[in-house]
Amino acid sequence: MKNFSYYRPKTAEQAVALLDDKWGTTELLAGGTDLLDLQKEYIAQPDKVITLRDVGINQLRLDGLDKKPDDFILGAGMTLAEIAAHRGLKDAFPALTTAAGDIGGPQIRNMGTLGGNLCQRNRCWYFRDEHTPCLLKGGDKCFAIDGENRYHAIFTQGHKCVMVNPSTLAPVLIALGASAEVMGPKGKRTVKLADFFHAPSSASEREHVLKPNELVLSVTIPYHHLKNASYEVRHKQSYDWPLVQAAVAFKYEDNKATDVRIVLGHVAPTPHVAEAAAKALEGKEVTEATASAAGEAAAQGAMPLSQNAYKVKLVAVAVKRALLTAAGHKKYWEV
Ligand SMILES: Cc1cc2nc3c(=O)[nH]c(=O)nc-3n(C[C@H](O)[C@H](O)[C@H](O)COP(=O)(O)OP(=O)(O)OC[C@H]3O[C@@H](n4cnc5c(N)ncnc54)[C@H](O)[C@@H]3O)c2cc1C
Ligand code: SF4
Repeated sequence: MKNFSYYRPKTAEQAVALLDDKWGTTELLAGGTDLLDLQKEYIAQPDKVITLRDVGINQLRLDGLDKKPDDFILGAGMTLAEIAAHRGLKDAFPALTTAAGDIGGPQIRNMGTLGGNLCQRNRCWYFRDEHTPCLLKGGDKCFAIDGENRYHAIFTQGHKCVMVNPSTLAPVLIALGASAEVMGPKGKRTVKLADFFHAPSSASEREHVLKPNELVLSVTIPYHHLKNASYEVRHKQSYDWPLVQAAVAFKYEDNKATDVRIVLGHVAPTPHVAEAAAKALEGKEVTEATASAAGEAAAQGAMPLSQNAYKVKLVAVAVKRALLTAAGHKKYWEV
């Protein structure tokens, strides 16, 4: 690991003032579960590391009446374990607590934070290998397109880099209509999570739209009483990223789903909003047949790479199961 100076600011303003306005020379440190790996592999080589430990962004706040909150405001420093275990979040947003509870293992969840989860770097093995100069490390080639690409994107159109966004909280937060409060040198701004992610194609870009001298303070989830669920297809139960994930949210009155949102994870360089799938279900009862049809619609337009066509089928399965779970159907796939 390259030597660096360590800073421990007391406020978010002080942290922002320490950040440079270009990527690479300064890094924020939250739980360190991603950043330290990147430093040990020489993928990240910052001169300054700025811990967020003391800046006061670890709390959950409820806006509105105590018993009937309108908004849940999650500090970016909340750990994944705290999110997974929170009773109020579990009741309102089971999609979020399930997704948080399935990440990594207990050690990762006890250290990893919400802000770090949204801003973590991608897991493409070429990117993570110090010696492979791909597009995101200043090279002129994506090695995955003609290489080992079984865990890469299937929605590849228009993308020079075909990694998948690694966050499983991101699709859920987008489906729930969440937004992030961000602080930079000119003050605070609000970014919808739907607009937060970016498909990078060079070393001067990240997987999100934050500027190098901005940080996430909190994420606000509006409470609209939506039915919601997240379903992941994984190789094995723990210590692995999903192969495919579907996050869904919808109003369900008189057995009719309206305001349907379906967002896929781990299939594209950004979370993938499946508009055709949402449209296929709008105004209908959630049954095995309608959930299947939405699943098939979600996979439309996929252009898989040489080794990952299997993910197309998984998309249909994940969407169907997420919809049935959210609507309260018996989980026939669990014995
Ligand atoms: C074995 C393993 C399995 C995993 N499985 C999954 C999985 O299934 N799904 C999933 O989503 N993730 C998974 N992860 C990733 C894990 O969720 C992230 O490592 C973790 O959430 C990062 O949080 P952190 O606080 O440790 O971030 P750090 O490592 O401290 O930071 C990560 C990045 O985010 C930036 N950052 C941190 N906080 C902020 C902020 N407030 N504002 C702006 N930038 C910030 C940092 O500068 C850094 O670039 C897994 C990790 C491991 C090691
Ligand atoms: S998918 Fe992206 S990160 Fe992976 S080799 Fe290609 S350019 Fe690099």
